[in-house]
Amino acid sequence: MKIFSLFGLLLLFASLASGQRTIIYCGQLVDVKAGKMLSAKTIIVDGKKIADIQDGYITARNNDKVIDLKNRTVMPGLIDMHVHLEMETKKGEAGERFVVNPADIAFSSLKYANSTLMSGFTTVRDLGGTGVNISLRNAIAKGEVVGPRIFTAGKSIATTGGHADPTNGYRKDLMGDPGPKEGVINGVEEAYQAVRQRYKEGSDLIKITATGGVLSQAKDGANAQFTEEEIKAIVAAAKDYGFKVAAHAHGAEGIKRAIRGGVNSIEHGTFMDDEGIALMKQYGTWYVPTITAGKSVGDSAKIPGYYTEVVTPKALATGPMIQATFAKAYKAGVKIAFGTDAGVYAHGKNWLEFVYMHEAGMPVMEAIKSATVSAAELLGATDILGSIENGKLADIIAIDGDPVKDVQAMGRVRFVMKEGKVYKSE
Ligand SMILES: [Zn+2]
Repeated sequence: MKIFSLFGLLLLFASLASGQRTIIYCGQLVDVKAGKMLSAKTIIVDGKKIADIQDGYITARNNDKVIDLKNRTVMPGLIDMHVHLEMETKKGEAGERFVVNPADIAFSSLKYANSTLMSGFTTVRDLGGTGVNISLRNAIAKGEVVGPRIFTAGKSIATTGGHADPTNGYRKDLMGDPGPKEGVINGVEEAYQAVRQRYKEGSDLIKITATGGVLSQAKDGANAQFTEEEIKAIVAAAKDYGFKVAAHAHGAEGIKRAIRGGVNSIEHGTFMDDEGIALMKQYGTWYVPTITAGKSVGDSAKIPGYYTEVVTPKALATGPMIQATFAKAYKAGVKIAFGTDAGVYAHGKNWLEFVYMHEAGMPVMEAIKSATVSAAELLGATDILGSIENGKLADIIAIDGDPVKDVQAMGRVRFVMKEGKVYKSE
């Protein structure tokens, strides 16, 4: 009797230690590090993490939960390095900010977060909003609402009248004079203050708008809006707090200042010239192209009244340029991380970027790499994200078809697991 109960106790400990395992049978498995398609593999998930990957289809234990994806292509959860979960484009959106409350933004963002996760993106970088994006990150992390894991910039940092000045385009008596607290800086001292404010508010990284932008109510969509000295101050302050710096930049001069200033990534990079490309390589700066946003904005601008009179010509001139710049930069060997600017177009269609990258000459396997291992590297999170390996978080998706043969398969996501929990299974 005594021996029996001791044995029972040991069994109990053994099962508690391993917990319930999930066994995933993969028809095809993308090895993102080797850039290879493997076949007939079993992934073993224990709790939130990947415990093992084995050849063939192993026999499940009594207690195991089995997921059969033998007719699917399995890969790591995708990462979009440039989204805006607080908003989604619509006709006449310029007036929105006068009527929408933070609570309205919060409720809408739940829908956007949900469709992002369901399309296979288990991690995103939110590159700028009002600060609701920080609360959204927290709520998702606590498991209170459904969405991707978020690394957020909180509020973007701009200069007076610049692309992310929150009162840009307002009536004069409403403009006021926003400062570092609101994400507007002029000079080195304010650069430090703005970064420290983001730290206080709970941002994970810093986003600056190094040049004009397409969708702001301002004339120029490409002019340089920071001095190099200001950018260097932002980067130095960011380093103190362990932040990476992402720089929105369309114009060639602003791009170069941002690279020399030490930012980690250039977003959009639309009018990057040969000198800019050479600098990207020299400094090891990442390029996050957002071709999807460019194309979508260019298309929307053709619909009368979609954007304001200030925005329309910028959208027509800037949007369609990005794909060609991407093709040139990729060919030159610039480091590419996948990013789409979702929100500027409808959330959940992030996969279109794969189609456009492929169209511009990047093999599908390389594009998948840019949305997994490379993105994780830019996030500084390769220890937990970006590939299916022992000890990493169990962010696993499966699609219908072989993306190498048909890139459109990236839009047919049938299974989504984040941190070991299944969110979609068709
Ligand atoms: Zn953006």
